[in-house]
Amino acid sequence: MTAFSWFYSFLKKHNAKMAFGLMLVTFISVLAIVKPIVSGSIVDDVITAGQYDLLPKLIALLVVITIIRGLCRFWSQIIFEACSQDVLFSMRDTVYRKLLQEDFNFYNKKRTGDLLSRQTGDMDAIRHFIAFVIYQVYENVFLFFFALAMIFTASWQLALCMLIILPFAAAVTISQTKNGRPLFQRIREQFSSLNTFVQENVSGNRVVKAFSKEDYEIEKFNKENDGYRDAELAAAEIWTKYVPQFEFLSNMLTVILMLIGSIMVIKGNMTLGDYVTVNGYLWMLMNPLRQIGWRINDIQRFTTSVEKIYATYSEEPNVKRPKSGIKRKKLNGDVTFKNVSYSADDEAIIHNVSFEVKSGQTVGILGSTGSGKSTIMNLLCRFYDVTDGEVLVDGINVKELDLYNLRQNIGMAMQDVFLFSDTVEGNIAYSRPDCSFEEVKKAAIMADANHFIQAMPDGYDTIVGERGVGLSGGQKQRISLARALLKEPSILILDDTTSAVDMETESYIQKQLKQLNALDHNCTIFVVAYRISSIKDADLILVLNEGRIVEQGTHDELLTNNGYYATVFRHQYGEYEQYMKGGEEHGKK
Ligand code: ATP
Ligand code: MG
Repeated sequence: MTAFSWFYSFLKKHNAKMAFGLMLVTFISVLAIVKPIVSGSIVDDVITAGQYDLLPKLIALLVVITIIRGLCRFWSQIIFEACSQDVLFSMRDTVYRKLLQEDFNFYNKKRTGDLLSRQTGDMDAIRHFIAFVIYQVYENVFLFFFALAMIFTASWQLALCMLIILPFAAAVTISQTKNGRPLFQRIREQFSSLNTFVQENVSGNRVVKAFSKEDYEIEKFNKENDGYRDAELAAAEIWTKYVPQFEFLSNMLTVILMLIGSIMVIKGNMTLGDYVTVNGYLWMLMNPLRQIGWRINDIQRFTTSVEKIYATYSEEPNVKRPKSGIKRKKLNGDVTFKNVSYSADDEAIIHNVSFEVKSGQTVGILGSTGSGKSTIMNLLCRFYDVTDGEVLVDGINVKELDLYNLRQNIGMAMQDVFLFSDTVEGNIAYSRPDCSFEEVKKAAIMADANHFIQAMPDGYDTIVGERGVGLSGGQKQRISLARALLKEPSILILDDTTSAVDMETESYIQKQLKQLNALDHNCTIFVVAYRISSIKDADLILVLNEGRIVEQGTHDELLTNNGYYATVFRHQYGEYEQYMKGGEEHGKK
């Protein structure tokens, strides 16, 4: 499918309405001939032949026709505008749905500003094309050839002389189209780039302020702004170069009429009335010619935008939804990694990872930064697909499970906490908006969030800012944990979720999580952490280093092993014990 057949698939649903609109435009254009005919008749019949009683009738005809044309114009424009809004609505919806299906890789590589430009500026170029450009081009082409045909009936010799203009007009059109194309692509790219810059700076304004980089950012912004202005000016230069050429060609028509037409009238080959009539048709020839430059401009904006939107739309996610994936309303939560490896951009990130967890067990994952802990969790959720080996949930390869079904069974509190600009309650109940307030509160209590939420001015109805502005790091983590818990998942993933909370809160949360398994239902829990205290009670501890599992077992087994885990343990607890000892001695003194 090409970008344009894709665009047409939206427009074709409105074919009948568009055709009717164009019929109205045809009618309006045909009625346009009445004016020149009336003018000719006034000269030939009223002034020359002296039929003065004809004058009021001719004027009345002119008034009626003008009213009818006005009404039809109004009606047709409403039709085109409505069609354009409908097309835009479904196109935006389709593109947005596709964006939601895209995987992490897509979002890792795409700039948010580009994606926003596709949904705003580019979409508007399409709206303008349907609401205005299509009928304008049609009307102008129709008027031009219709007027030419009418001039033929008045004087074929004069019409032939006027046709000389056509090859010149075609040559200028082709030249403008060819030269304008790259410039319009540059405009769209500069627009996206400017959008991205503003979006990043607004989101990152705290970093800008913290580093006092306002001047630097303003300078960068000016560059972007200049870039966009230059791109627009370069495109404007094109039409400022070509529009006068079309203007010249259209004025040549007047010259031809005056020169050849007058000679013909003098020689008696044409009546004065016909001369006036042809003069009346002249604007119908000149107007389209004058407008070609502008319309090429519009069409090129449209084609570039359609191509850009389609290029984004047609990118297929690497993580594919199986056509008829296995659906299990409630998964058990047994997880097996079998010789799993994962590479991104030819860089090996995970090497041959294997482990097995039974439903209801807790797995602790420890490892230095960048060792692949989050990546393993992302593979389990199928945010990325393994390059080698397989990830099984309840013995089924995750690639065969229905993708949404799999994710519905997983509750994840991500390392990079994201909260929506919504109420606290809305954020926690994100997965189950219909659940009762009691359930939201229960999840918040488990995540030790209830206290601070209730202390907020509007409690659970407090609106949290974009990305959770106004909350502390630990508060955000706890809301994100409550959000994952409310899902009552079969697999719960806590990726560094308690890193920003104090030890006491963490130990409370751990107790709650243990109860989760004892009371409600079996839930396999993955805890990714740096602190030994977060994972030491886990049924299985995985120690990662550079994408490999270097140790695995229980806390006691790993201590006996005397490897990396034991070193980290001594490091963390040694310091703690020393601190406690120091405190006691200090107290004794
Ligand atoms: P941390 O403790 O800091 O959160 P981590 O153990 O969770 O670290 P990962 O986020 O899993 O580490 O990343 C492991 C490695 O893979 C890093 O070197 C990272 O740069 C790389 N990596 C992660 N995701 C991608 C990706 N999409 N494309 C390329 N490289 C990636
Ligand atoms: Mg991580």
